[in-house]
Amino acid sequence: MDKKAFWEKYYKLMKNIYGNQEKIENLIILQLNEAELDFFKDSKYVLGRFESTLNQFCKICENNIEKLNNNMLVLLLLSYVHLNDLKNAKRIRKVLKEKGMDKERPTWLDGVDDFQPSENIFKGKYITAKYDKRIEDLGKFLIKDFDKIEEFIVKEWGNILPKKMFFNLIDNVGPSPFNGLLYEAYFKVGHFYKSEFIRDYLSSTIVHEIFHFHRSNYLIYNIDDTQIGPFKFIDEGYAEWKRTEYLKKHSEYKIYADNCAYHMLGSNLFELSNLKDKWFKVMFDFLNFPIYETATSFTYFLEDKFGYDKINKIFNAIPDYPEIKTWTDYLKTYFESDLINLMQEWKNKILENRDNKESISEKIITFLKVEKIDDNEIIIYYKSRYPLWAGHNIFIYDDMMKLQSIDKIDKYRFLKDGKLKMNTVKSNQLTIFVHFFQYSQQLKFNLDDNDIYL
Ligand SMILES: [Zn+2]
Repeated sequence: MDKKAFWEKYYKLMKNIYGNQEKIENLIILQLNEAELDFFKDSKYVLGRFESTLNQFCKICENNIEKLNNNMLVLLLLSYVHLNDLKNAKRIRKVLKEKGMDKERPTWLDGVDDFQPSENIFKGKYITAKYDKRIEDLGKFLIKDFDKIEEFIVKEWGNILPKKMFFNLIDNVGPSPFNGLLYEAYFKVGHFYKSEFIRDYLSSTIVHEIFHFHRSNYLIYNIDDTQIGPFKFIDEGYAEWKRTEYLKKHSEYKIYADNCAYHMLGSNLFELSNLKDKWFKVMFDFLNFPIYETATSFTYFLEDKFGYDKINKIFNAIPDYPEIKTWTDYLKTYFESDLINLMQEWKNKILENRDNKESISEKIITFLKVEKIDDNEIIIYYKSRYPLWAGHNIFIYDDMMKLQSIDKIDKYRFLKDGKLKMNTVKSNQLTIFVHFFQYSQQLKFNLDDNDIYL
């Protein structure tokens, strides 16, 4: 097939990307058999979409490796991992390191190039899930009810879904990278343990990821550097907002997200425009702060303002506005307002609602003790009714009401009996906020006299 005929056919089929997935795959294989690999030189990503053409994708990327940008190198790395070619994956990881990827997105790619897939897998109609065989006990436990995820996504999105999606649980910590071409994600479960709460949390995170795949069907805009910030802010907020429906905690999570947003926005850690324009910078600068929860709070604000249906359909409605050419123009038309104006309105609302009237006051933390380690660091021990994640469920202020940066000490996230560390503060008193879904607690703690909170 000549160039023109091929691409005409390809783009026609791509209009219904999931409905035509098999036809698209067959068309590409046919063309690969007829033409030279170089035919796809300027559109390599096309070959990265299918397991059947993944080897050729890697080959054509290698042929032009010095011209690949970091995004393509990441896709190449993840494709090698999918093919279980860890030697080449490690080589590409090194190239990315030299190009500063680990500085730009710390911990993001850690452990991915060391994935050793289990024999035991979950195989549903859409989802294939594996875990690293070195964490068999945990992996088996976590994928046990993945059929519930399939039930939810089919109910929610019908057949507007990739025909094959791959989820891999790896023994590492940090944000999880994904291969959007192949619909494959690597979840870091190094900080998880066997509990129902954790399993639901992970399952709902997979729902979050599948939402990203689903909305690709509607997203016709080119998301370049000027669009990525405004896009991610809505995209991630919406994905989290949808996750709460899997958990059946939609209204409870709003209270939690608004509380998180209060701590983030009230502390003026960044300009509102940074959250809008420099999503990745803010996200990686504030790794242990609730950035995703803050974005989710904004989606809830939109739900309050425009109604559930309008927000629920924000991506699906894109084809109704064929004349619009960019994501930011789309938002402006869809909401009849600039994103930054809506964000300002949201910020004011969050800050006015200081003690979040919807929160239910509860004694979540039942025990608290502080230990001075040296002149620079203190450790805080707590016992809690609910599993807490330092920096996401617990917020600590000094007596000038400056939000402190805290971090968990234990390997595990979400502990009822945990420790966290923070830098020594000059003040004698700490104000501590705890939020877990609709429940909230505020307590004051004196640092000077070996106090214990009971
Ligand atoms: Zn996401």
